[in-house]
Amino acid sequence: MKIKQFLIICLLLSYDISFAQSLNEKYHALPFGSIKPSGWLKEQMQKDLQGFVGNLDRLVPSLINDPIYGEGRMHKNSKEKDLGNSKSGDIEGSSQYMWWNSETQSNWWDGYMRNAFLLNDKAAIEKSRKHVYEILKTQDNDGYLGIYDKELRYNFNSENGELWAKATLYRGLLGYFEATQDTIVWKALQKAVANVMENYPIYKSHPFYSGDGFSGGVAHGLTFTDVLDRMYQLTNDKKYWEYAAFLYADFSENHTSESDAQLNNILDEKYLLRSHAVHTYEHLRPLITATYATGNPQLEKALKLYLTKIKKATTMTGGATGDEWIWKQIADATATGYEYCSLHELMDSYTSLLQKSGNAAIADDIENIFYNAAQGSRDPNHSAIAYLKTDNSFVMDGTKNGEVEPNRKQTRYKYSPAHQDVAVCCNPNAGKISPYFVKSAWMKQSDNTLVATLLCPNILETTINGIPVKIEEITEYPYKNEFKFKITGEKAIGFKLKIRKPEWVKNIITREKFSIEDGYIVIEREFQKNDEFSINFTTYIAIKEDLNKEKYFKYGAIVYAKPIASISEIGKSYADAFNDLTYKPKSNQRFKFVENHKATYKNGNIIAQLKNLENNKIEPVTLIPFGKTVLRQTSF
Ligand SMILES: [Zn+2]
Repeated sequence: MKIKQFLIICLLLSYDISFAQSLNEKYHALPFGSIKPSGWLKEQMQKDLQGFVGNLDRLVPSLINDPIYGEGRMHKNSKEKDLGNSKSGDIEGSSQYMWWNSETQSNWWDGYMRNAFLLNDKAAIEKSRKHVYEILKTQDNDGYLGIYDKELRYNFNSENGELWAKATLYRGLLGYFEATQDTIVWKALQKAVANVMENYPIYKSHPFYSGDGFSGGVAHGLTFTDVLDRMYQLTNDKKYWEYAAFLYADFSENHTSESDAQLNNILDEKYLLRSHAVHTYEHLRPLITATYATGNPQLEKALKLYLTKIKKATTMTGGATGDEWIWKQIADATATGYEYCSLHELMDSYTSLLQKSGNAAIADDIENIFYNAAQGSRDPNHSAIAYLKTDNSFVMDGTKNGEVEPNRKQTRYKYSPAHQDVAVCCNPNAGKISPYFVKSAWMKQSDNTLVATLLCPNILETTINGIPVKIEEITEYPYKNEFKFKITGEKAIGFKLKIRKPEWVKNIITREKFSIEDGYIVIEREFQKNDEFSINFTTYIAIKEDLNKEKYFKYGAIVYAKPIASISEIGKSYADAFNDLTYKPKSNQRFKFVENHKATYKNGNIIAQLKNLENNKIEPVTLIPFGKTVLRQTSF
């Protein structure tokens, strides 16, 4: 170990042990289920639950039904699993396939259950309850809840899914517990986490040591800090934060495979992101948690640097690039693809940072990912998502805009309800992204201060100084920038309501008296038993320039794109109405930005003058919301 690295680790350890300087979290995350979607967002989530989110167990039954946490736990003589994928161009080796079904199942159930509760779907809630109790039956007396037999567990020196299988499962169980307050589930979780902390003793074990080969499962396991962070928030017991900081320290010191988020690499400003991208983005959360847990100034510095590095890898729509590896220093609208998993993970990391820091600018990034890149990776007309997608999307035939890759047959650039030919990772995450977004739409700053952090149509039920209050946020946002807040309480009640002011707001139109505080609109008054107020934002057409000096049109939170008419073709069919879809363009016209674009906003679209590169003529072009397109030109 280099001396510098050794000193950093020592510093980290000393801060971890003292814990005197942990940072205060600015906002508190409300219990899952307090915020329910409404309006268009609810409709979209209902379609998902009736679509690929609610049916994945039917589309890929052998993956979802593998009893990997129960009688199918892995032992010394377990055989490699056939996941039905092509493995074309895999450079990661096959040992990851051993644990993979745990990720598929647990991420899928996490999204499924959260959708069920947010939509109050009785049948789906009952199915979730049954699943949770089936899983709890697999817990051993000592608390172990995972995928390995006694002889293997906590005893590895190479690729394994010990912590990752737990992180995905326990996150779902936490959501279930928060929505139901079922104490049986809570006790099982506490016991399961205690079992990890006993068997990987803090600063006396090396859970991230896994030899020199690719060990993506071990690296994913660092997100076990998600569970620890939430356990800390629910119990106020700092042992969970302390353990999370230990996991990050051990990862930094001992892991060799996915190293972008290791402390010494972050602090090395010349080190360029190069890992499997989804790891890079999800590892932002352990870094955030370790920073807040320890208050270590080195970590605070690293967090700032890491955010800057990530920004460079992100497209104008919030696309967290990497297809699936981060291979270029700067995101490119045509040449760098982004994976749906990465969109979810980066968004989730940013919501963690928003909750802890209260920084309003982070919320703009979250909305950008959710309303642009993520919406723009959904098939607007079918229940299917793109595994990989680019901002400029000229063909979706499996390849990245027609590129022939020398070492593999690329099939990720298409729409599918499962993507089983590659890996069933993105669809489960596409089921998680909406509930994870909604859960952070409101936060609490104190007993009498509520904060509308992310803007969307929703209904919040919470308490102010112990008194139940319901707030309906009625809006078509982000497609319109008008809001009505309807407040219903048992009686008149005084409190502070903060509404985030997005960075693109020109004027705030409301009859309410307000002040502006750190990027938030603050309204403080006594609200009547049945009260309401309106607040509207005016904005303008913004011409944004990406890191490659290409131009984008933005209006409010929405990026606009020129849709390209296409012909669709059905590929693999999983079940009735659940098909893979590819799209070919009807035209290869391209447009170029001109300074005198005369862009106007009308009825939800932008009309701009652009140069047609086929005939070099300047002509009016209609741009529509990016999220409503399949093939498109977005940068000009
Ligand atoms: Zn994926």
